[in-house]
Parts: sequence; C-alpha cells; structure tokens
Amino acid sequence: KTDIIVLGVLVVCVLLYTKRETIKAIIADIIGGDDSDISADSSGSRDIAQVLSQNNKNYLVLFASQTGTAEDYAKKFAKELTSKYQLNVMCVDVENYDFETLNDIPSKCMVSLFISTYGEGDFPDGAVKFEDFLSEAADSNGLANISISTFGLGNSTYEFFNGAGKKAVEHMTNAGATIVGDLGCGDDAAGTTDEDYMAWKERIFEELKEKLQLDEHDESFESSFKYEPLESITDDVSLGEPSFQYLPASKLSFNDAGIQLGPFDASHPYVAPFVKSVELFKSDDRNCIHSEIDISGSNMKYTTGDHLGIWPSNANEKVDQFLKVFGLNGKNIFNLTPKDATVKVPFPVPTTIDSAVRHYLEITGPIARQLFAQLVEFAPNEEIKKKLTVLSQDKDLFAKEITSKKFNLADALLYLSNGEYIWTSVPWEFLLENVSPLLPRYYSISSSSLSEKQTIHITSVVENSPNEHAEIGNTIGVATNLIRNIQLAQNKVDIASSNLPVTYDLSGPRDLFSGFKLPMHVRRSTFRLPTNPSTPVIMIGPGTGVAPFRGFIRDRVHMVDTQENVKFGKHMLFYGSRNTDDYLYQEEWPEYAKKLDTSFEMITCHSRIPGQKKVYVQDMLSERAADISTLINDGAFIYVCGDAGRMAKDVNSVITNIISSNKGISTEDAAEIVKMLKTSGRYQEDIW
Ligand code: FAD
Repeated sequence: KTDIIVLGVLVVCVLLYTKRETIKAIIADIIGGDDSDISADSSGSRDIAQVLSQNNKNYLVLFASQTGTAEDYAKKFAKELTSKYQLNVMCVDVENYDFETLNDIPSKCMVSLFISTYGEGDFPDGAVKFEDFLSEAADSNGLANISISTFGLGNSTYEFFNGAGKKAVEHMTNAGATIVGDLGCGDDAAGTTDEDYMAWKERIFEELKEKLQLDEHDESFESSFKYEPLESITDDVSLGEPSFQYLPASKLSFNDAGIQLGPFDASHPYVAPFVKSVELFKSDDRNCIHSEIDISGSNMKYTTGDHLGIWPSNANEKVDQFLKVFGLNGKNIFNLTPKDATVKVPFPVPTTIDSAVRHYLEITGPIARQLFAQLVEFAPNEEIKKKLTVLSQDKDLFAKEITSKKFNLADALLYLSNGEYIWTSVPWEFLLENVSPLLPRYYSISSSSLSEKQTIHITSVVENSPNEHAEIGNTIGVATNLIRNIQLAQNKVDIASSNLPVTYDLSGPRDLFSGFKLPMHVRRSTFRLPTNPSTPVIMIGPGTGVAPFRGFIRDRVHMVDTQENVKFGKHMLFYGSRNTDDYLYQEEWPEYAKKLDTSFEMITCHSRIPGQKKVYVQDMLSERAADISTLINDGAFIYVCGDAGRMAKDVNSVITNIISSNKGISTEDAAEIVKMLKTSGRYQEDIW
C-alpha cells in the first residue's frame, strides 16, 4: 500500500514538473491577469488599515460602483488630491477590502466615499458587504475616529434619489464618524453629474485645506504608472481583447474544443454571436435594431427583465480623428506598470495605442470641464492656454461653447486650435489616465427566459444626429451604431453605399469578434413579474421602453402554451410611439393578444402623426383612470420602463392623481401611497 502511495506521489510530481509552464501561466493569469481579482493589493491583504499603512498613504478614497462611473469620479478626485495637494492617496474599490480596521487608520488620514445608487435606493452589488459593515458600525459607534466626505451618483427620477449615498452617510453619522461637507448628489437625470461633482469638490477642497492645512500647488500631471514602449506584438500583447483571459498567452480563454471558458460576468464578458438582426423602424431617418444573441454553451443564465451589458468599441472615423488630433501613432506598443501596489492598470496591457483608443477609452462622449483644467499645462501655445483656462473656470461659458455644441474631446480641441492639428504636446500617458474608460452599455432584455432560454433579444434605438459644429458631422452613440453596422453586414447590405455616419472594425482583436460577435454580460435586475399570474399588471413603456414588456408578455404566452388552465389577471400595456413607422413589434402584439385573450390589452398612442393631436402614454393613463384604479385596488403591479427624463416623472404624477381622485385623498397622501407601492416592489421602474 505504501508503495502505491509513493508511486502516486511520484507520478503527481512528474506531471507537475512537465506541466510547470502551463500551471505557471494559469497561476499568473489568475493572480496578475484580471483587474477584478478580489485580493486587495499585490500583497494580497484585504485589511484596509494595513494596506494603507504599508503603502504610506495619507488619504483614502473609496468607491462603490455599479457600472464604473463612481469609480471614474473617485479616480479623478484621487488624482487631483495628489497633483494639487501632494497627498499620497489610496483609491480602491470597497469590494476588494475588509473594513473592520477602518477606525484604526490615523486620524489625520481623511476618507472620501464615491457611491452610486442602484435599483430602489440600494448599494451597488459589489458593496453589499461594505453596507453590512457600515450598519454594524452604526450600532457600535465604530467609526468615531474617521472623518469622511461622500459623493453620491444617482438619478433624480427615481424615488430613492442617491439613496445609497444617503444611507451610507446616515450609517456613518450613527457610527460616530465626522461627516465632512455635505453629501454631493450627482444627478444623471438632469445630465448634471459632472457639474454637481465639480461644485461638491470645490466645497470639499475648501474644507480639506483648512482641516489638513494643505498648500495648493499648480496642477501638474504625474502618471500613476511606469510607461514602457515595446518593440513587437507577442501573444501577451492585447489588441483590444475585452479581458486578459482572451489573450493568446492565456490558457483560460478557450478549452481544447475552442469553447470559451467562463464564468462570464462584468469583468470577463462572453463573446457572443448576433444570430439575427432586424431593422424595426419603417422610415429612413431613424433606426431601431432588434438583435438576437446566442448564449448557448456559455452557461450564462438570464431571467426575463434582466439587462444585457454590451461592450462596445469606437468607430474607425472617431479613432482616426483622435489619433490625428494628438499626433499619435496607433501602432506603438506600450506596457504600464503601477507605481504602487494599490493601483491597478485599467485595461489589459501591454497593448497598442490604437487598441487602447479603439477598445478601452470613451473618446466620443461629452467632455468634463475638469479635463480642460488639466489640459492647461499641455496647451500648444499661450493663446490656447488662455482659452482653456477661461473655459475651465467658467461653467456657463463652458456649457455654451463646448457642451451645447456636443463636441467630443478631439472636436473641442480642434475648435480651440482653429482646426489645426497641433495637440502633440499632450502626452499619451496623460490621455490614457484622464480620458474615461469605455464602459458597457446596458439594454433591457426583450426576450423571455422561459421561451428563449439560449437566446437573448435586445431592442436598441440608434443614436445618430447631425452636428454642424463637429469635425465629423454627426453626434453618434458608440454601441448603437456598432449594432447597426452589425445589422447591415449581417443582412449583407453594402456598408459603403449605406451612407453610415460611422463604420467599425467588426472583426475585433485577432478576429475575436468575427462572425458578428461582441463581448457581453448579463446583469441581474429586480424588474420581475409577480409570481402569481392572476395578479393584475399595468405596464407603461413607450419607445424602446417596451423592450422588457415584450419579454414579460412572451413569458405569459409561454405559460399559456405549456400549462393547463392557467388564469391570468388583467395585463394592460400602455405603449407610445411617434407614428406607425416606429411602432415596435407591431406584427407581434396581435399574436400575443390571440393567445392571452381578454387578459391582455394593449393601449397604443402616437405623438407625431401629422394633423393629429399629440398623445402620450400619460394621456392614455388618464383616459383609463377608472380601470387603473380598479386594478390597483385589486393589487396590481405597476411597471414603468424607458425615458428617465420626463416620461417616468409624468407617469408618476398621473398615477398619483388617479389614486388621489379614486380614494378622495390629497395628492400628498396619494404620493405617500405611490412611495409605499415603490418600497414594496409593487411599482417598479427600469428607466434610463
Ligand atoms: P453613447 O455613446 O453612450 O452616447 C449617449 C448619447 O450621447 C447618444 O445620444 C449620443 O448621440 C450622445 N453623444 C455622444 N457624444 C456626445 C457629445 N460629445 N456630446 C453630447 N452628446 C453626445 N436603450 C435602448 O435603446 N433600448 C433599451 O432597451 C435600453 N435599456 C436600457 C436599460 C438600462 C438599465 C440602461 C441604463 C440603459 C438602457 N438603454 C437602452 C440605453 C443604452 O444603455 C444606451 O445608453 C443607449 O443605447 C446609447 O448608447 P450608445 O453607446 O449608442 O450611445
């Protein structure tokens, strides 16, 4: 028996030795590859006070981010603290640390928290443990040594606007922490997050200067990374792969049968094929694409009502424009190494400049005023330096001259330099650290996980509008124009003769996307039908807001097809479009109505039919007030999806008015009832 054990051990040793390179590669991938790794810094410690002290940091910036925006602001804040006040800042994701020692950090080390609100006033998914920690600390005065300021990111259309930020501040106050400044409330609905942040930051800086006796220095950029040019493209050089696992040098991307290896999530997306793409609009001036995406073999699961995150890349024309404005050679290869252990490289490196611009940086969106302030030191001449300085300091002028013209960064700089390509003075290292990362775009899944288990449908309106001020005449949405390019190519429409505003490299890095594939991941949502089918349902979804309701109704149809004697409560769907050309899925609804019989009613209206009155879903709700009251009294669930701007707010007030007149109570009291419905999940919103 002993012989067999010894022999077994020997065989294992020989195997380990012969496979050592593969094993080393796998371990290296696991440890070093993925920036979502759960260890906190390179020492692997999750103890916040220990890592802070080991790295000689004297300021702590924490972020709790759902989609990456809070992270982006936190990093910008940390960078400014470093460059302006020469603080030694540690900026980290709360998901990667344990906080039991937070109260032990030196009292002179201040903390700032950047937190986004998700769902009904909730903390982001990755911050659940952090929330538990805060609420326990609140019971025990557990943060009495801490001084903390908080900036929240939210959307004022939601009932629980910046709910997570407010909850965090409440817990921290109860835990005895000193709250520095007011809670900053970024408002995505008003499109003012950037200016909200700037105003909050100025107030906090004033407080910090006094509390920490800080001297202000002229801002000068100092990279957080060691930058190293490389000579050749090897298997470990990223050409824009969405995660380390997809590099040829990694052993973790595909198995021997060529199947992608999961698990797939927000840090390692599945590269999935679009198997069908259909133009839904019947007019030539606008586009809306129905896409069907095959997830079979990925082990990815979704539930009706979830969101799909699509990882886009930038258009060829926009990449070329960006490279030209800054005089960059896209072919150059570089590596980045963090200068300290708490910093992470934001995307797979080594890589090429073209790959980083194309796949990892948000080069076309609106520009933050702060970026202009940072660019002052790199202005190509004195005249432009003056212009940059004035614009960066004058909120209204910036809004008029830059934001309202819908310039992207390259457009804006060309505008300042009168069309001359003279911005070579801006270092590439600066751009890759200060241009925001290109983040996934989310889509409400429009299929049913009951009837389409292996296929996800999305319904996306293509964002494209002419822009007389921009160098490349159109303001475009990154992901939706990519989806449209896929739709045309997939249906063998000649792209060159389609008069498209922009084109894309559809084959992707090392052909990873060829065959009409894109990286994607599923994000769980709380938007769910009531489990009891006899509960009445009121759905309000104009435009692409109808997407999840198509999924809901397909769920119900599937139940009719597969179950006997299923009884449904009334399902009312309020839908609005401009006219009949953009009436989404108009051939499908009558089919669903046939199956669901009287339990399904679709109420449709149009806002732009020539010669007719503009009618919106809100008007239809008022018209059907009596039915809505009856259904609410019968326990109906209400769902609103789509435009976060006006529609969701208007719907909220119409429902409030309906309840008020039905019950004979004041609108204030009715508003309280609506609030209660929201808290209890009987009034759900999926708005953007
Ligand atoms: P982006 O590149 O993100 O641009 C956004 C907008 O800004 C566009 O209108 C663009 O034209 C404009 N823009 C670009 N550059 C500038 C500039 N320099 N200055 C000013 N404006 C500029 N959308 C759907 O169509 N269907 C859905 O089902 C859907 N579901 C969603 C669900 C959730 C939970 C969320 C958060 C969003 C959802 N969206 C949906 C919206 C979607 O995520 C995208 O925001 C949308 O498709 C636009 O993405 P894009 O990459 O094409 O545009």
